[in-house]
Amino acid sequence: MHPQLALALEPVLRDLRATGGPLPRVVPGGWPEDDDVAGAMLWHSDGSGSGVSVVLDRPFAEQVAHVADVVQDWVVEELWGTAPTNWPRCPAHPDNHPLEVRRGGDAVEWVCPADGTAVRPVGDLG
Ligand SMILES: [Zn+2]
Repeated sequence: MHPQLALALEPVLRDLRATGGPLPRVVPGGWPEDDDVAGAMLWHSDGSGSGVSVVLDRPFAEQVAHVADVVQDWVVEELWGTAPTNWPRCPAHPDNHPLEVRRGGDAVEWVCPADGTAVRPVGDLG
């Protein structure tokens, strides 16, 4: 896997491990074909896959925020129909919504979408 993609994926995968979330099988390449982009497939347990990629040489925080968003969508699809899909759970509103990714400068955080409270940096859950 391209090192920039591996580095960008690490924080959100760490959050999944820390919270007992499902982990995608990450297979480099395949999507998309572009010299400026490093891609991988995130495979579901049912055999379907979703693409994830980073635009190379963009700020690290931008890469992390984008990848965390894509992985979060993957988690929702993976859990759909078998478990609650609100990952990561909002501590203030655990039954209402998941947290969402917000980037401000070099900081990438999980925030409550209802009141904008920053809960934890991406990569620091659990
Ligand atoms: Zn909330």
